[in-house]
Amino acid sequence: MPTHATSIGVAIQSFENTYGVRPSGIWRAPGRVNLIGEHTDYNCGLVLPFAISESCFALMTPRNDQLMRICSLKETTIPVTIESPHEIHLDALEPKTMSTWLAYPYGIAYLLTHHGMKTGCDIVVYSQIPIGSGLSSSAALACSLGLGLCELYSLGLSRLDIAQMVRQVENTFAGVPSGILDPLASLTGKLDNLVYLDTLDNSYRYIPFNPTSCDLELLLIDSNVRHRLSTSQYAQRSQECLEICENLSVTSLREVSLDNLESALELISSPVLKRRCRHVVTENRRVELAVECIENQDFVQLGALLTQGHESLRDDFEVSVPELDMAVEVAITRGCLGARMTGGGFGGSAIALVPKGSSEAVRKAISEAYDKHGYALPDFSIPRPSQGATRQEDYC
Ligand code: ADP
Ligand code: MG
Repeated sequence: MPTHATSIGVAIQSFENTYGVRPSGIWRAPGRVNLIGEHTDYNCGLVLPFAISESCFALMTPRNDQLMRICSLKETTIPVTIESPHEIHLDALEPKTMSTWLAYPYGIAYLLTHHGMKTGCDIVVYSQIPIGSGLSSSAALACSLGLGLCELYSLGLSRLDIAQMVRQVENTFAGVPSGILDPLASLTGKLDNLVYLDTLDNSYRYIPFNPTSCDLELLLIDSNVRHRLSTSQYAQRSQECLEICENLSVTSLREVSLDNLESALELISSPVLKRRCRHVVTENRRVELAVECIENQDFVQLGALLTQGHESLRDDFEVSVPELDMAVEVAITRGCLGARMTGGGFGGSAIALVPKGSSEAVRKAISEAYDKHGYALPDFSIPRPSQGATRQEDYC
């Protein structure tokens, strides 16, 4: 795999070969890992993500006319190939769901034409984030474009405005009824910090998070099972949550606290919806407790919360897959303090809180278990909470 710097060099060269000019600017937007708080963001709930260093880069030069041209590089585009860009006139952009990746750039451009973007742009996109691995490659793509175009045209939108716009693009143009977790984590991430976000009012604060200071590692396990959120049951889960709200006559599940969960469950007749409701309500409480644990450096209790979160996603919300369950089970058997799937589920990644000395043994045990069951081997990394989206001043 090319190094970060080499890849940006390749992307710049590809931009020049494709469009005959240098990019005016490069914007980087990271993927994210969600420590805990899953499927709560579209229920006005609590989440605790961090931005990772793997990012999507958008290279851009404004045009004088209304044409938008864009192409996306494959990670291993060496030697540099001249891509044939997709082209669209800004007037031809429409607010409709599209089944290809162009939903993201076209959606962002459509919305920005209503915020003062008057001319088109030439764009090359290059991403280091694996697609469909639960690390939010989609929001990173849309955030790099959204932030880049806003800054390029001085449109004056705040990061929260951009995050809301990216959510709208995911919902309306890509057809995924997701919440604001992914774009807000990508746009507000901070080095060595978690973003403790309340999606009821989109307020957030930073929680310093450095497990290595306690001789722990947060291990990321990519199961290599790729999800496709828009065609999966993600939309069904969101619909089920709306049904529960109707049953309970509330505007969001945030109105149900742990204290009144039992009486709320009595009002829901469907056993499936009861379980969905229980997940969301207990998950919100787990996020609050996780923050307390981190602030008190109580990683043993934090690990227990992660594992409880996984069990709830597996049994009540039913968004896990056997590969993720296996990674979690093996991690815990091998002495991890806790583990859970992360991201929307139906494939993707898991995280485990590992005592430092046992990282190698844990990785080996998970790989062996996968091999034994005939699963494709997982990939491992140690993600570090990183800075959110920025302009890459050093490249242009
Ligand atoms: P993830 O968990 O990775 O966000 P999603 O299913 O939400 O998974 O989003 C993946 C989609 O995002 C891809 O199918 C594609 O449409 C788009 N995407 C992400 N990164 C890129 C990229 N580098 N180039 C083109 N499209 C991308
Ligand atoms: Mg996504």
